[in-house]
Amino acid sequence: MTLAPLLDMTRTIGQPHMDYVIIGEGNTSARIDADTFWIKASGQQMVNITETGFVAVRFAPILAMLDQSAGDLAAQKAVMQAAKVDAAAAGIPSVEVTFHAMLLHECGVNYIGHTHATAVNRIMCSPRAFDFATHRMFPDEAVLCGPESVYVAYEDPGLPLALAIRDGVRKYMAEWGEAPKVILLGNHGVIALGNTPQEILNITAMTVKAARIFEGASGMGGPVFLSREDVLHIVRRPDEIYRRNLFVEKTSH
Ligand SMILES: [Zn+2]
Repeated sequence: MTLAPLLDMTRTIGQPHMDYVIIGEGNTSARIDADTFWIKASGQQMVNITETGFVAVRFAPILAMLDQSAGDLAAQKAVMQAAKVDAAAAGIPSVEVTFHAMLLHECGVNYIGHTHATAVNRIMCSPRAFDFATHRMFPDEAVLCGPESVYVAYEDPGLPLALAIRDGVRKYMAEWGEAPKVILLGNHGVIALGNTPQEILNITAMTVKAARIFEGASGMGGPVFLSREDVLHIVRRPDEIYRRNLFVEKTSH
């Protein structure tokens, strides 16, 4: 897989009017092949990122960190540096490289987009974060974002966060029999999982819209959530599955 679709997706996500990220916030990744993936390098700004703002990394050494004692931060950084496909390449993988590798691997998706969208973080920094993650309010939210989001309470960024996300994702997959589309991080942000760049953009946009609706409805005695029965009915309807696939294909070329 070439870098161009990930580069375009990252610049789009970083546009200031989206209010998803500012300065060096957020990170994106994409599978290259079975053994390697691209990840945004540490310290890069999404909006004006170029080809040199990404680093190609091997899955195996990063995934190994999740299953064995990875040592202190300096030792972890040495592993990340050694995991680069081209050791001479300039960038250092984002500190969140562990959760990117884990999600691409465990969820079988091709793209990850992680942002600190203001609308979502208004809720993630409130006592209603879990409530927002585990309910759906309107049909298109359920269609694009799945029947629920995975909620992960605040953890230290890096390896502790990656391990907490892995626990949440495994529980979700055991319950729903499929990978999640959205992971919500308490006091931190949102992760979208998808197979195309367009799917990442759609899921992030819909999560932000849902967050705005949640906040507005909360001020009027709500929100009124869809019942679990209604959510299941929507996500399994053949016409909605057809529509969802259409959204994904539209700009995947
Ligand atoms: Zn973050």
